[in-house]
Amino acid sequence: MKRYDLIVVGAGPGGSVAAMTAAEAGMEVLLLERSRYPGEKNASGFALSTKAWRDFPFIAELDLPSMRYNRLCVAHFLSPPPEMEERFTISSGPSRRMSYPEARDFFTAGMLRREFDQWVAEKARAAGATLMLESLVTGLRRESGRVAGVVLEGGEEFAAPVVIGADGVLSVTARLSGLRTKWRPDQVISACAVDYAAPRERMDDVVHEAGFQAYFGPGIGGNYLVAYADGLHLGGPGVTNSLVSRLNRSHIKPARELLDTLQAPPTRRLLRALGARPREWQAHLLPWMDRMPTNIHSGGLMLVGDAAGLPEPLYAEGVWQAMYSGRLAAQVARECEEEGDVSAASLARYLERLEESPVGKEFVGGAELRRLFEIMGDPGLSRELTELAVDMTVNLFMSAQEPKAECVARALPLLAENLPLLMEVARIYLPMLLEVEGERLRGYLAAVKGLAALLGGSAGSAWDEGDKAEGGPR
Ligand SMILES: Cc1cc2nc3c(=O)[nH]c(=O)nc-3n(C[C@H](O)[C@H](O)[C@H](O)COP(=O)(O)OP(=O)(O)OC[C@H]3O[C@@H](n4cnc5c(N)ncnc54)[C@H](O)[C@@H]3O)c2cc1C
Repeated sequence: MKRYDLIVVGAGPGGSVAAMTAAEAGMEVLLLERSRYPGEKNASGFALSTKAWRDFPFIAELDLPSMRYNRLCVAHFLSPPPEMEERFTISSGPSRRMSYPEARDFFTAGMLRREFDQWVAEKARAAGATLMLESLVTGLRRESGRVAGVVLEGGEEFAAPVVIGADGVLSVTARLSGLRTKWRPDQVISACAVDYAAPRERMDDVVHEAGFQAYFGPGIGGNYLVAYADGLHLGGPGVTNSLVSRLNRSHIKPARELLDTLQAPPTRRLLRALGARPREWQAHLLPWMDRMPTNIHSGGLMLVGDAAGLPEPLYAEGVWQAMYSGRLAAQVARECEEEGDVSAASLARYLERLEESPVGKEFVGGAELRRLFEIMGDPGLSRELTELAVDMTVNLFMSAQEPKAECVARALPLLAENLPLLMEVARIYLPMLLEVEGERLRGYLAAVKGLAALLGGSAGSAWDEGDKAEGGPR
């Protein structure tokens, strides 16, 4: 039986980055992938966020044929079915206040998963990892009660002091190690998407850099669009409703509703303008937790990426999370092996560091953020908010139908009239703000109170002086 320093199960982004990190550090690594090539299960694409450029120097070399930079995000708010026409649209480039240069330049880059996954796996191979394809892991080896290797379909065994489970949402390593029997219904969602091919020139002319678009509306839930160089995929309300609303999720029929809402006029017009042709239909499971999962390691085993349940709690972005956790798990594996202790207690530093890391921070305020998004799925609230946005925009900037000054003067009373609606949003937003920025806010509040006391004091004494001079308040 061949022995390695580290075995990684699954050559998705999480597994390949884990294998690359460990191989670069001089470990002998076996990377096992069940498919004929990494990314085989996906013909479609995805959006890689700028965090990957911030955290992984090798990503600067990424230059795939299918890449399209997304420098413009668009949100379309539609009227209710059956019209589903646009009532309000916002689009913007990245904020200049973002904390690192790439984030100020673009939001994401869209590309095909089969190209990306192969590219990262090749990096792992080039660093010295052994990549074995068409190798389905069906069992775990144990020594002294700890995980100590894997068994392939067919019975072949490989040994290693540490195994990294990067085998995705239906992780065999999570199940066989006893870390998880099955996802609870509230921890996982089904997501559907239709991938379209479209000529590059038309993509350049029609979509250009607006590579992420979302469609919201009362009773619609919304579609989203991710564009790459020669096509795009559209996810339907099966995706966004289930992503935004726990309430809706119980009666969601993702496939049916995706097909229905692909008929929304703005979507149809876009696909016609692109001359888009359907290329692939996808239905996937996706972990979706609102708190950072904690049962992600045992003696000799660490779970990363989807296997660990790490997609973030709002949009379920998961590729950067898989890469980040993969690298961290490989670093911890090396450290613990050097110390000669790969027990659960020793590997616990993986969880501790992940909780402290940017991946852990994505879970702060997760439940509250989701509730904010649920407003978009609430037919009543989303319609009222959309119409308020329309009124504010028209009255302040776009009116041609009525005297301009009268329109502008309407804006403030409109906001006041809609205070109860805005308070609904504030009731969700403020507790989240306190969770994330509590200390800083309390500091501001103390400063404001101090200032108020100071002003109150001086105003009070000025008043007192005035009273005396004038013979008392009038
Ligand atoms: C419709 C949809 C759209 C998405 N869009 C985005 C997006 O735009 N941006 C984003 O960041 N995230 C997106 N995600 C989430 C993202 O796809 C995942 O979070 C990410 O792929 C997780 O990476 P991973 O390496 O953990 O797992 P995976 O990518 O699932 O890779 C697991 C690998 O393990 C292999 N494997 C599984 N079992 C075994 C086994 N027993 N033996 C050997 N090999 C095995 C698989 O073949 C696979 O190659 C999307 C998800 C869905 C469903």
